[in-house]
Amino acid sequence: GAGRTGRPGARSRTSAAERLTARAAERFAGQLVLVTGAGSGIGRATAYAFAEAGARIVAVDRDPEGAARTAELSRLLGAPEAWAEVTDVSDERAMEKLADRVTDSHGVVDVLVNNAGIGLAGSFLDTTADDWRKVLDVNLWGVLHGCRLFGQRMTERGQGGHIVNTASAAAYLPSRTLPAYSTSKAAVLMLSECLRAELAPHGIGVTAVCPGLVDTNITATTRFTGVSDQEQERMRAKSSRLYRIRAYPPEKVAAALLRGVLDNTAVVPVTPEARGARLLSRLSPAA
Ligand code: NAD
Repeated sequence: GAGRTGRPGARSRTSAAERLTARAAERFAGQLVLVTGAGSGIGRATAYAFAEAGARIVAVDRDPEGAARTAELSRLLGAPEAWAEVTDVSDERAMEKLADRVTDSHGVVDVLVNNAGIGLAGSFLDTTADDWRKVLDVNLWGVLHGCRLFGQRMTERGQGGHIVNTASAAAYLPSRTLPAYSTSKAAVLMLSECLRAELAPHGIGVTAVCPGLVDTNITATTRFTGVSDQEQERMRAKSSRLYRIRAYPPEKVAAALLRGVLDNTAVVPVTPEARGARLLSRLSPAA
């Protein structure tokens, strides 16, 4: 771009954001990018970031309005085409149908972002088997279905691709309050690293994105175990205040995610606390 100073002959200085945009456009223009949980928060911001790079977008969410809105704005932002798909990622049959439908209509997905997830908070002893099932169904099985169904199609096509899984800093940061959520995310992180080794010979990259606290609607779908229904609301309000105070925007997660794909990075911690915790967990794993 033109130098900021505007002086003729001044060395052209582009910001990191501009360079990322240019690299992303070069790589992703015309590619097919499928994002799950695209109806809100990080998934929506990710769809927009790929749309701005000229990718074709499939916005998948169980919330029809959220998915439709993301597809619509993706087109306005530069996606040559964008579609909304209503699917529950934890439903294996529905995911198979989705994979068939998308492949038949638009071709093999070049970049898959398994991002849909839900929260679950409360001590281990307050967490029932049913609570565990619910969070693992979405956060782990949803990612598994996506990796398997779209990964198979990518390897069959033989032209490479990339899979991104949204884990969390909770994957490597033990806490007393998020045992089930953290376990689901630790599984996603390990799955991503195993899959990365398996798919590398196929030219398919795998990246796990590990955000800390990001200002999204996740608290709206977070269940707090061991508390009454009235308490649920109070806990939700309290925790969403915390997210708002940190105010880390989903757009910054999307930018880090795009860079992770471009650089084929294995694990991308996002937010200062996620980076700090990652470093600590590797220095003193038993702490
Ligand atoms: P969000 O609630 O704003 O967005 C999640 C989206 O996923 C919603 O649109 C929701 O409808 C959709 N979704 C939920 N379950 C689904 C299902 N079974 N099938 C299809 N769609 C489903 O939350 P977010 O913060 O943007 O979360 C995105 C991802 O980021 C999640 O995996 C979450 O665990 C992870 N994450 C979030 C934070 C944070 O602080 N917000 C931190 C670390 C990781």
